[in-house]
Amino acid sequence: MSPHLIVPSEFCKTGESLEGSIPVAGLERLASVCADANGELAWKVEGSLDIHRKPKLLLKVSGGIRLVCQRCLDVMPYVLDTETAVVVAFSEPEADEIESALDDDDRTEVVVSDGKVDVMALIEDEALLALPLSPRHDVCPDKAAGRWREKKDSPFAILGQLKRGNGNKK
Ligand SMILES: [Zn+2]
Repeated sequence: MSPHLIVPSEFCKTGESLEGSIPVAGLERLASVCADANGELAWKVEGSLDIHRKPKLLLKVSGGIRLVCQRCLDVMPYVLDTETAVVVAFSEPEADEIESALDDDDRTEVVVSDGKVDVMALIEDEALLALPLSPRHDVCPDKAAGRWREKKDSPFAILGQLKRGNGNKK
């Protein structure tokens, strides 16, 4: 897979954009927190300059992935749909300066890069940040009911064994 490397200052100055799709299997860090690597994400990155003429990337990521429910540990389909603005600073001090100028409720993020930026890494970061901390089904599938149907005779079989066991002791 060819890396999507951009130079933010140039990419943003000329208002370029890139878009595509990538299978979850192609994003190792994301795939490692999913139930499996099924699914594909559509992504888009648009360059612009912010009000202080800093390079700003608008990142959009969407698509269906499969997480693990933290209550029942079963697969939980999840639809990712996120959009974030990232301002690119050349140095840590500049990043601090940009961050302090942002409103507290501004969801803009600041990254530091003095050269090329790998768009796919940014997209993967965004996807990871957009995941729920503790994914749970609204209503977990009733697995207990399924087990009961599968082995509906077993409670009686166990009861029968217990009775026989008690009988042997006497
Ligand atoms: Zn669940």
